[in-house]
Amino acid sequence: MYQENTYELHTHLYGCLNQEDLRWLASRKEPRWHIFQSSFEETYGHKPDLEGIFHPQRSQDLRSYSVYESVGNFPRFQCCFDFVISVAHADEEELFQVAKRVSGRQKEPLAEYRMLFGPQLSMEEYSQRVQALCEGFEQADQDGYLVMSLWRGGDLARHQYDALQDLMKRSAVVRKRLVGVDFCAKEEGFPPLEKKELFKRIRTDNQNNPETSLAILYHVGESFQDKSLESAVRWVYQSAELGAHRLGHCIALGQDPAEFLNTERQESVQERIHQLEFERAHDLIISCAESELESEIVRLQELLAKGSGARRTGDRSATGTCYSVLQDSTPDQEPRVTVRYTEDYVERVRDFQNRLMKRLAEMPVVIEVCPTSNLRIGAIQKHPVHRFLEHKVPVVVGADDPGIFDTNLETEFQILERDGLSRETLSEMMATARKSHSHAMSGRA
Ligand SMILES: [Zn+2]
Repeated sequence: MYQENTYELHTHLYGCLNQEDLRWLASRKEPRWHIFQSSFEETYGHKPDLEGIFHPQRSQDLRSYSVYESVGNFPRFQCCFDFVISVAHADEEELFQVAKRVSGRQKEPLAEYRMLFGPQLSMEEYSQRVQALCEGFEQADQDGYLVMSLWRGGDLARHQYDALQDLMKRSAVVRKRLVGVDFCAKEEGFPPLEKKELFKRIRTDNQNNPETSLAILYHVGESFQDKSLESAVRWVYQSAELGAHRLGHCIALGQDPAEFLNTERQESVQERIHQLEFERAHDLIISCAESELESEIVRLQELLAKGSGARRTGDRSATGTCYSVLQDSTPDQEPRVTVRYTEDYVERVRDFQNRLMKRLAEMPVVIEVCPTSNLRIGAIQKHPVHRFLEHKVPVVVGADDPGIFDTNLETEFQILERDGLSRETLSEMMATARKSHSHAMSGRA
């Protein structure tokens, strides 16, 4: 009922593979089992039993290796993902078939599938694979489109984007089927600000050549082990400010900060400086007393400039900062700050989230929520979608990796319905999806 009336706007092509697809892939080419084996052994402490794993009698074992059902255990999720990687080879012929197969059974009237290739491919190989995917979608008889996930690290994203632009000039099928770029996989260490120039270029290209415009999609605020909750919230907001059209997950933006009460998080001094500067620029000061902000930024900048030898413990509770600079325990490392989530500070962070959500609601940006993925990987207690909706931020629903989570978009809507969202709200979300596909958001002519 839901699936037929909405668009699937957040899913990864190889995350859609089911048991049948995995069997087919394994029969096509010998799996590279070492990938799964080492990941499995590292996670579970013993070897997986892969003898005859695709035999129908072992379908329960196949499921346990390839479907992730735990909560908050990223290594186990990675294992399931590595199972898929082991049986897949991502050669041109396979990519064509996978695109055709997956899109061919799609229930939604329109779906966008994301695909990531690593730095091991030459740009020529990269282009050939993108072409093969687009041809697969073209043959599928359904409205299936491709979004290429660009590489977050280094400068590769720019080269990949150049290759996509070039390919769109040469190939009508790529022009038709390629509708966006995305950034996914590990986000820690890759602040959205690093992509400022690239985003700007894509937005300019879109304006100048609307017939080949690409939406900018960005996974952010899903995993933020390296920083404070408020810094992760800031990353979400900055991604929208930089011009991303749709944001994936954004858990940090709407997660109840009370889930952090009486805990501590660490982040680099540089990250904290960025946070203070952001608070100043957006007139949302939460980290310290307003009168202390300028001197605090200077203090941290000096600390950073002096390097590792000059650290101090600096308990600044007297001036009302929410954090302290770490004791000099590892002299060769960059100084870090520890943020404490006291009752008072939890409320300030909540206010920070609320006010940024209000501003996001005024911007042309859409958040993609993936309930099963967020609950199992993010291990959040209450889904942030309630707060997004409360603040009128446009939200769409995606199944993310329906194969690995053994779910589909219908089930994802049912989860939200059970979680208290009214039919009316869900209908609104479906309507938002129907007008937030990449063509519409990027201004494709
Ligand atoms: Zn995703």
